[in-house]
Amino acid sequence: MAEHIDPVCGMSVEEKDAAGLAEYEGTTYYFESEDCISRFNLHPEKYANKSAKEKPTDALK
Ligand SMILES: [Zn+2]
Repeated sequence: MAEHIDPVCGMSVEEKDAAGLAEYEGTTYYFESEDCISRFNLHPEKYANKSAKEKPTDALK
């Protein structure tokens, strides 16, 4: 079972249920709807950076 996070809406997506995928900077992203794919393709840097930076670093201070 491979589960991924749709970077546009934040939903978890299983690979077999994905509406499609997109590759950006060497990372593959999965989407639960074609609408999310379209949004990602318009601003891939916006969504890719968001998912990469979502770490609770504040808790370490
Ligand atoms: Zn989505």
